Amino acid sequence: MQKRSHKRDTILDILRSTASHPSAEWVFHQAKQAIPDLSIATVYRNLALFRQQGEIISIATVNGQERFDANTQPHTHFICTACGAVIDIDYAPAEANLESIEKEHGIQIISQFLIFYGVCGHCRSGG
Ligand SMILES: [Zn+2]
Ligand SMILES: [Zn+2]
Repeated sequence: MQKRSHKRDTILDILRSTASHPSAEWVFHQAKQAIPDLSIATVYRNLALFRQQGEIISIATVNGQERFDANTQPHTHFICTACGAVIDIDYAPAEANLESIEKEHGIQIISQFLIFYGVCGHCRSGG
């Protein structure tokens, strides 16, 4: 029991200490340094659990790898289609727009998730 919660805490700490929006594999490689007997299956299981519990969000699948964020506050992401970098963007669409969308469709919006796709500064400058 104690061992399992240590693994859980280590994985969550890693997610919370990075702004790189890591994949499961990246988290696995970081956590493995602290927990040599860790398996990637344990990482996947914990990531699924954290998602259910609202501790992390899944942003998108980039180059075949699902990317996660421990920042669960609403914020906008930029994804580089060249290198797969996921960057936080300080941008929020006007709330007035949401209200008119709700009226038009007779719906209630609870959350929104905006992703920009493009080429990051690093890739634009040719690496
Ligand atoms: Zn890039
Ligand atoms: Zn983010």
